[in-house]
Amino acid sequence: MSIFKYSIALTLAYTLLVASPQCYVEGYPNLVQSADEKGIVLKNGTRFPYHTDTSKGSWDEKINHADLATQLEQPYDAGGFETPPAYLFDPGRLRYQPFFQAVYGKDKKAIEKNLVTIEWPTLKGKTKLQVSKVDGVNKKLYAIGQEIARLPKADRIWAEVAATYCYRVIKDTDRLSMHSYGIAIDLAPNTTQYWKDEASSETAKIGYKNTMPLSIVRIFEKHGFIWGGRWYHYDTMHFEYRPELLAPSCKEIPK
Ligand SMILES: [Zn+2]
Repeated sequence: MSIFKYSIALTLAYTLLVASPQCYVEGYPNLVQSADEKGIVLKNGTRFPYHTDTSKGSWDEKINHADLATQLEQPYDAGGFETPPAYLFDPGRLRYQPFFQAVYGKDKKAIEKNLVTIEWPTLKGKTKLQVSKVDGVNKKLYAIGQEIARLPKADRIWAEVAATYCYRVIKDTDRLSMHSYGIAIDLAPNTTQYWKDEASSETAKIGYKNTMPLSIVRIFEKHGFIWGGRWYHYDTMHFEYRPELLAPSCKEIPK
């Protein structure tokens, strides 16, 4: 086995260490009724298996066929410092799409019914953003905007340009972007860093870069949002609402 393949195997083995279905109940107390190794039940009656049968041996299979267990396999380091993530370490980037469709809307029309407009403060005044009202995401993002407005100007400038709802797939994939559900926001899209600008293959060796201040990241994390700057496939402008990864049962980082 080459060192490169060995490091993929190690990464995949490492990610199997943590995963508690309870994180869904803790993360979404208003939406999730119960969760165990067999499956989760939403309060609206929808049920999902915790594990699906599809093979998840390779990285491509993992990212394309993630299930609810896969979503939690890589622990998110909320409140952590800015450190280059390990090879293929993308906590929150492996997603089970049917869950988000059941929660935020099954298609564009259903999702848009849940969108509301919030005010986002800027140094020049304010802008308006479209955000899902499901689980109070609009209120959380509004609160984040108010807190960022109290940061020093040198940090605040990174939140001047913001983009939220946009129904689209992720660049070069069939997977729906989290912006499609109205639960993600990009800040300073023209001056931040995205891994695809450096590499095209998911398994390429890429170098980490970031200019987003951690003061902003920590405000988002406090309100249930994760940051794309904690991914090997870094997307430093990107934040999305993923409270299951910030739930107490999921916060422990194995060392
Ligand atoms: Zn984004």
